[in-house]
Amino acid sequence: MNRRERLENIIAILKKEYGESKVMLNYNTPFELLIAVILSAQCTDKRVNMVTKEMYKIVNTPEGFANMEVEEIEKLIKSTGFYRNKAKNIKQCSIDIIEKYDGKVPMNMDDLINLAGVGRKTANVVMGDITKEPEGIVVDTHVKRLSNRIGFVKTNNPIIIERELMKWVPKKYWFDYPNLLIRHGRAICKARKAECNKCGINEYCKKNI
Ligand code: SF4
Repeated sequence: MNRRERLENIIAILKKEYGESKVMLNYNTPFELLIAVILSAQCTDKRVNMVTKEMYKIVNTPEGFANMEVEEIEKLIKSTGFYRNKAKNIKQCSIDIIEKYDGKVPMNMDDLINLAGVGRKTANVVMGDITKEPEGIVVDTHVKRLSNRIGFVKTNNPIIIERELMKWVPKKYWFDYPNLLIRHGRAICKARKAECNKCGINEYCKKNI
């Protein structure tokens, strides 16, 4: 079986297992999602959801954040870690969105990565969940680990992993692939221990072929 066939099987099985792909961050608008993804760096989705649930009752627009002092934003997001940098980026990103994009989050890679605090990964998560058509493949710690364990790549460099995957993974899977692998990485193929005996895709994993 070639890797393309393995991929097709893995996606089909994980879709059945975990349902439709979706980020685990709660949001009502693209801007709320963007801010949640910025906050999720080095922080769990659960913690981010707790923080944004309260914060978005107070402020949830580019205008709102742009008009706040950085220190006020810091207080709201402190428990997500790296809060000084994140607060500075959230304020600047909000100003950028107002000044350059008429208050709306742009939905293409070039414009998104020009916003403060937004890299390729953040841009792909936002575009993926809003449009379901990201311009790349999100490579986080789970995608990195599982892509190696399954045998699709042989490197820990996220940039090379994304580039390698984009060469052969069909575009229609660029959203599903990372989202499903992230769920599987959290549930079964964990960092500390891969629970291969409980794994629904084990016959398509490098470990067993
Ligand atoms: S078989 Fe094991 S290593 Fe492979 S994906 Fe499943 S849990 Fe991970």
